[in-house]
Amino acid sequence: CGIIGYVGPEGTDVTTILLEGLSKLEYRGYDSAGIAVLTTNGDLSLHRQPGKIANLKKALELVATVDSASGPVAGTLGIGHTRWATHGRPNETNAHPHPDCTGLLTIVHNGIIENYAELRHELGSSGHTFLSETDTEVLAHLIERSYFGEAQHNLTEAVRLALQHVRGTYAIAVVSREQPDVLVGARCNGGPLIAGLGTNENFLASDIPALLKHTRRILVLEEGEIVELRPNSVSLFQQDGTPIQREPLTIEWDI
Ligand code: GLU
Repeated sequence: CGIIGYVGPEGTDVTTILLEGLSKLEYRGYDSAGIAVLTTNGDLSLHRQPGKIANLKKALELVATVDSASGPVAGTLGIGHTRWATHGRPNETNAHPHPDCTGLLTIVHNGIIENYAELRHELGSSGHTFLSETDTEVLAHLIERSYFGEAQHNLTEAVRLALQHVRGTYAIAVVSREQPDVLVGARCNGGPLIAGLGTNENFLASDIPALLKHTRRILVLEEGEIVELRPNSVSLFQQDGTPIQREPLTIEWDI
């Protein structure tokens, strides 16, 4: 339902940026919330809770007091989501972000993957183990497969190739522990996805209010486009990999 993503310099409090962004998207309604942050020790630290963002905040505070070294606050890359369940109950395991089998990557998704049952069956018979009841989780496994296969350890290319197998509606954000300076987004048929351009940092979101605190320079993704964000660059591609040049818009209004 709501998506937020961040990539930026070391020392940034990503957790706060993600939680504040999600709060700005609360008006759309949701049943659970979650974030994933890449910590300084190189792990994708995943935190999800059913119910309100306040529950997630409480769970995060608990982690931070129990183990500050592996707590999520140290990251420089992260994604967050508020879920409105379509496939699978609103519980912690079905909340986004969803990891792949190997801990390589994690993904958030708005929309519905129509052919998820076929994909789940196909991936299951080649050894992928599923943890949730969601349609979304097939995306994590598809991207993992193309990442280690034809995409040759390039996350943006892995996302692009994986999406060729998918029918349905989606706006997604993906991060990998192997590429700590890369945040990938894509959209097709579903709700909006925008990139927010900052200085030495860039953002992804499903709606403008989530970003206005940080930037007013926005790139709106069109159907089938993929975006690769790094702290100092934003690159846009068509589904076939062709690069796109587009000037950002400047948002003049306030909320
Ligand atoms: N279909 C996905 C799910 O049920 C995404 C729902 C959403 O757009 O929030 O988890």
